[in-house]
Amino acid sequence: EQIEIGNPIRTRAIIEQYGLSAKKSLGQNFLTDSNVLVNIVTAAEISEEDDVIEVGPGIGALTEQLAKRAHHVLAFEIDENLIRVLDDTLAPYDNVTVLNHDVLKANLANEIAENLDGKHHLKVVANLPYYITTPILKNFMASSLPIEKMVVMMQKEVAERLTANPGNKEYGSLSVVVQYRMDTKIEFAVPAKVFVPKPKVDSAILSLTPRTEYTVKPDDEAHFFKTVHGCFMHRRKNLWNNLQGMFGKTPEIKEEIQIVLDDLQIDPQIRPERLTVADFIRLSNRLLPTDL
Ligand code: SAM
Repeated sequence: EQIEIGNPIRTRAIIEQYGLSAKKSLGQNFLTDSNVLVNIVTAAEISEEDDVIEVGPGIGALTEQLAKRAHHVLAFEIDENLIRVLDDTLAPYDNVTVLNHDVLKANLANEIAENLDGKHHLKVVANLPYYITTPILKNFMASSLPIEKMVVMMQKEVAERLTANPGNKEYGSLSVVVQYRMDTKIEFAVPAKVFVPKPKVDSAILSLTPRTEYTVKPDDEAHFFKTVHGCFMHRRKNLWNNLQGMFGKTPEIKEEIQIVLDDLQIDPQIRPERLTVADFIRLSNRLLPTDL
């Protein structure tokens, strides 16, 4: 049997054999550490009951570990050059489908319906291309696919923003718009040295699971997102000033905002980063444009 794809010696041999040069513009950093690969799959609790969506299989290091445990793996790889490589490296696994698609442009629901049987749990596991981490996560979240869990490698700094709590300096609009739907947890940090080529930043594995319990939900999601972004527009200004910047400064609007804040018992002088996710939801539900 061949040694694993993610073994540093095998990875280098594959890169050489196919004359690959990692494309920075596509965020290509190949993972070459068996422990990290296994720890990712373990964090995702992959079993034969799972179908896994992978973004950016690269030369197949993580795909192989997933294929060994999952029912089926559906991988989206944008780089046409890697498709022939994956054809070879993943040849021993008959439960992998690789699509030569940009994951941001793919019709995820259609591809899943066509390539998976719909009888297995759905998980997303990936070593993400870092330049599009946020759009990829938002896409999956907005897709309304029944994804049970996502376990994804990203820049450590982004993982910290996604897990930050109110009052933390990393806490911002990204934390709120993701945490309102998902519970987030940093599983472990990953040093730059385990990648070929070595990225400039440290990485972390983040797990995201859909929240099952909500104390309160947004009435209008698009308006909720706008409100959150508007409240964080000027981080150093207080909530009152940010809300006026967003909704206007006429006496009527000021009065309405004052009433809403009083009702919700939110101090207008508070900085936006002190508000909880539930605060933002309550606030946006009361500040619908039609009410102002
Ligand atoms: N999974 C491999 C590993 O762990 O070694 C490679 C991970 S590498 C960080 C990111 C991969 O995403 C690359 O293979 C890159 O070509 C691919 N990629 C970049 N942009 C993409 C996109 N828009 N859609 C699908 N794949 C993309």
